Amino acid sequence: MLKLRHALLILSVFSSIFFSIFTSPVLFAKNFDVIAHRGASGYLPEHTLEAATLAFAMGPDFIEQDAVITKDGIAVVLHDIHLETVTNVEQVFPNRAREDGRFYALDFTLAELRTLQVHERANNNGEQVFTKRYTGNIANFTVATLEEHYELITQLNREFNTDVGVYTEVKSPAWHAEQGVDASQIVIASLTRFNLSNKDANSYLQCFDFNEIKRIRTELNYAGKVVLLMGENSWGESTTDYNWVKSEAGMKVVANYADGLGPWLGQLLDEQAMTAGKVVPAAWVEFAHNEGFVIHPYTFRQDALPPGMTETQLLNTLKHVVKVDGVFTDHVPPVKAWLEAQSE
Ligand code: CA
Repeated sequence: MLKLRHALLILSVFSSIFFSIFTSPVLFAKNFDVIAHRGASGYLPEHTLEAATLAFAMGPDFIEQDAVITKDGIAVVLHDIHLETVTNVEQVFPNRAREDGRFYALDFTLAELRTLQVHERANNNGEQVFTKRYTGNIANFTVATLEEHYELITQLNREFNTDVGVYTEVKSPAWHAEQGVDASQIVIASLTRFNLSNKDANSYLQCFDFNEIKRIRTELNYAGKVVLLMGENSWGESTTDYNWVKSEAGMKVVANYADGLGPWLGQLLDEQAMTAGKVVPAAWVEFAHNEGFVIHPYTFRQDALPPGMTETQLLNTLKHVVKVDGVFTDHVPPVKAWLEAQSE
């Protein structure tokens, strides 16, 4: 017993020394999660294995996957339930659009999706959304499955003896359910297969739909870390009332099911104070901190910064004013460079 107490004392002394050595700025730097949004999407077509590989090489804390389901019930990594914004589906399968003129991943088998070429995100007129990004059209980027992404990251982690996490979003679960598909169950099965679904796994499961998050926790008994993404009610992302989420009462309820929140950048600051020239967090941020949520806002884009803000101003505001725990970024290197400058 004495030995144990002695050992504990030594341990506590050591840990306090350890803590003082690594107290900010180094510890501080480690406390800000860099999440590669859709892989290295600032440099290569989003969500391809190539984009995930490049992201890995940039040393983020997490790499994000968005998951939609194929006709044969397989989770593939795509941001939208539609295909035409990031693939040549309209050329390969011109007759497979639904009545609304759109091509749905759910109407295609994995084998069919494999025949598509993935390109940089385009708008409805076929113009590239981010004009400075990848403009090539010869290299054949393809659609990959969620498990291929998990395998890639798991293998690279083993080979480089590191632990880059995964950060997977279940896309449009209510829409999938209307089509008779349980998207969350399929995604969770894949997470579980790669040992990424337990509480301690270096993994987050994210969703815009609070009803689905409740279902993931209760009906599907998911034990891993879960993040509720926050949009605006006007976006129609889900039936979740984000104004309620942002209320103190709402935050308390959400905290029963979710470990973290994923707001968009426009929700972080108090708009009224801004008009008076003050930069202060929006009211909900304090409620969220009180509930102990991890907060990971989206999205830092070097080529689409909020109006009137430099990269450094944005990142400093996130960390020092709003006090968030990291950021989704299309561009990992500038965020890492900013973090390193913090520790100098
Ligand atoms: Ca996402």
